[in-house]
Amino acid sequence: MATKFLLTLAICRLIVTVGLTLDPTELLSLEMEGRLSLEPSDVGSASRDFGGMQSSEPLAVLHPASAEDVARLVKAAYESAQGFGVSARGHGHSINGQAMAGNGLVIQMSGSSAGGSRRLGPRVSEELMHVDVWGGELWIDVLRSTLEYGLAPKSWTDYLYLSVGGTISNAGISGQAFNHGPQISNVLELDVVTGKGELMTCSKEHNSKLYHAVLGGLGQFGIITRARIALEKTPTRVKWIRVLYSDFATFTQDQEYLISLHGQKRKFDYVEGFVIVDEGLINNWRSSFFSPRNPVKISSLNADGGVLYCLEITKNYHESNADTIDQEVEALMNKLNYIPASVFTTDLPYVDFLDRVHKAELKLRAKNLWEVPHPWLNLFVPKSRIADFDKGIFKGILGNNTSGPILIYPMNKNKWDEKSSAVTPNEDVFYLVALLRSALNDGNETQSLEYLSNQNRKILRFCKEEGIDVKQYLPHYTTEQEWRNHFGEKWNLFSSRKTEFDPRRILATGQRIFTPSL
Ligand code: FAD
Repeated sequence: MATKFLLTLAICRLIVTVGLTLDPTELLSLEMEGRLSLEPSDVGSASRDFGGMQSSEPLAVLHPASAEDVARLVKAAYESAQGFGVSARGHGHSINGQAMAGNGLVIQMSGSSAGGSRRLGPRVSEELMHVDVWGGELWIDVLRSTLEYGLAPKSWTDYLYLSVGGTISNAGISGQAFNHGPQISNVLELDVVTGKGELMTCSKEHNSKLYHAVLGGLGQFGIITRARIALEKTPTRVKWIRVLYSDFATFTQDQEYLISLHGQKRKFDYVEGFVIVDEGLINNWRSSFFSPRNPVKISSLNADGGVLYCLEITKNYHESNADTIDQEVEALMNKLNYIPASVFTTDLPYVDFLDRVHKAELKLRAKNLWEVPHPWLNLFVPKSRIADFDKGIFKGILGNNTSGPILIYPMNKNKWDEKSSAVTPNEDVFYLVALLRSALNDGNETQSLEYLSNQNRKILRFCKEEGIDVKQYLPHYTTEQEWRNHFGEKWNLFSSRKTEFDPRRILATGQRIFTPSL
């Protein structure tokens, strides 16, 4: 009753604020358990994201207490005479305003609903090896709850303070993807509120069209309120190894060999890598690793075109087989052709490995370097053109200052479900190249947002001119034609799914794929 009163009050304020752009009678009649907020702090945080480059204010923010709250609000938006955009927001870690809803409503899926919540807490089935979680749950909390049962999801992102709904609206990738596929290949079932406000359960067997549409669907077809995620038994510890290469072809050959071992017992559990164009970066990570030899100086390594490549691999193990793990690692390492004096290893608890980026976050926060603009560019590059990409971009356009880490690692396409909405290059193996840059306002032109954004455009232009058929991961485009090009032969399916599940095109308007019919 009290909640209803507060909601009514909030809506009255909303009406005054926006001058009756929403139909009041429809919203007032909504029975909701959650909290509809017009507070500047809520509206302000829903207008920002990690990218720090866009800002778009919603009219109000709903903190839902249940999937039914989400359904009621979307249904009201769908049925209202005027219509309004509704975007789910997970943890707001998008780069280009993808979770925003200018002049619409944001449903804040992560964080608390402030009392009376009937949201699903993580529910583990030990027998069936899966967990059911609320769509706004953060992966770090999913991990914490499954660990109580000695279980954990199989496929991860590098950073765990992201929501389940947010990553599976994209794909969710990290060094395990070559073996387990992206996170979207490990989702068994979903509850989804469609753009008509219908709450539906879907899986490969049941409502499969909706299931496949939503996975990698950029929030276009529904709001995920529950996801069932496959689990495996957790290892307790991890051998984490970094080795260097000065020759790009040798580096990629080794990466491709390692991912060809997917599905086998004798393989690494995680394969990533990064590009080093300046000495500062290597010094950053060396401190937490042990090197058997002298500290490596990039200048002494005869780097190919001034660039070094670092392969990053891990082997998981249980303390009970600690005595054999070194031999297993050595047998795998013997097949690789890295610079012999460049082996850096460390050994740490599995959870600390998975949560490794959070440590970097805390360090950056302490230096006020976390909440800065992030003109990130993530590309999937086909294997056949990765050498051209290296030549033109790592050894060309980038110069010797990258303003942040550059990840590079290959994945197997057969671990991705072609029926999902995610888009990848048309080759059996493709690379993720992630340029994770931070812009600074410190007077150094090459660190500025304008410089880095310009460089991103140059990179995309280079790929186009050279006919390198890259696909953006976490894509951002502004015209329908660009979206059509991005989806390629999947466009017709993508847009027909949109018509079926969100006919008024009111969901996730911040992606700017479809024009809402308002
Ligand atoms: P938001 O930014 O809140 O939302 C993203 C999109 O999903 C929006 O369109 C939104 O409307 C939609 N959405 C959100 N919740 C739902 C829901 N419940 N139902 C339907 N749609 C929804 N990605 C990787 O794959 N691998 C990585 O290793 C990785 N590391 C990252 C590290 C950092 C520091 C950052 C900032 C991002 C990283 N990402 C990575 C990218 C990340 O996966 C995406 O940005 C993801 O969308 C973030 O999740 P979020 O909860 O913050 O989503």
